[in-house]
Amino acid sequence: MQVYLAQPRGFCAGVVRAIEIVERALEKYGPPVYVRHEIVHNKYVVESLKAKGAIFVEDLSEVPPRAVTVFSAHGVARTVEEEAAARGLPVLNATCPLVTKVHNQGKRYMSKGRTLVLIGHAGHPEVEGTMGQVPGPVYLVQNVADVAALPLPLDTPMAYITQTTLSVDDTKDIISALQTRFTDLQGPDIRDICYATQNRQSAVRDLSRLVDLILVVGAANSSNSNRLREIGTEAGIPSYLIADGSELNPVWLKDAKAVGITAGASAPEVLVDDVIQALRRIGPVEVSVVPGREENIEFRLPAELVAG
Ligand code: SF4
Repeated sequence: MQVYLAQPRGFCAGVVRAIEIVERALEKYGPPVYVRHEIVHNKYVVESLKAKGAIFVEDLSEVPPRAVTVFSAHGVARTVEEEAAARGLPVLNATCPLVTKVHNQGKRYMSKGRTLVLIGHAGHPEVEGTMGQVPGPVYLVQNVADVAALPLPLDTPMAYITQTTLSVDDTKDIISALQTRFTDLQGPDIRDICYATQNRQSAVRDLSRLVDLILVVGAANSSNSNRLREIGTEAGIPSYLIADGSELNPVWLKDAKAVGITAGASAPEVLVDDVIQALRRIGPVEVSVVPGREENIEFRLPAELVAG
């Protein structure tokens, strides 16, 4: 069986930074370090950090007084920052700088008196964080129908921002619906919202031209991993999201001569290797990487973790 690996796949710079923040915090301050929400959406990553002494909580009320606390890569609402400050918790913020950039775009539009629309998925922690960072009401739209239902006059000064794990292609129909409906609409250049989302989606499209089955390595609650699976499916290739090799179903491989593998931005390469091993247990496998975009982006760590 021929196996093609998408390039790029797996960890993005925001995920690398977030994990490193927890690891360095554990080294510097010693365990336990408290992390609000899964640092990134991947069970393997969370379990490895738990083994080193990280404790994951969903609510700051679960953090004991004075305990070092990390905010996850998805970002948090201002109320969470305020609660941490009121309780005097020492906080390390692992919010991805690209998510912070979206927060800042939203604040800028609002300060100019614009009504803000966020294109994203209801209930996702990044969306909750973004809605809670901008000072004022934000209208969440998930699809074109939501745009039609917005209870706003057509000449309202509007602006939109988007969840980072949506790509240009994911948002273009919604943006054009907004443009059609509202006469005064502004938005950021969405091509540079998140390089990693765009690159992984382009790579899976390239992959879909070579293979007859796509395996996306990632967590069921990972937005960007789910989107990669959907893109494979939209390209007409049976595509499955699996956490690791144990979830590989041999039935899927029945007619597959060429299998493509990619991984969501929060999935470590060790899990891709695990899937390849699972394929090897079924039959001989030849692995090659599909040439794709090289990534060399790195985000700086918080100053207190770099010095000494
Ligand atoms: S997917 Fe993009 S926005 Fe999300 S953590 Fe990675 S680099 Fe940051």
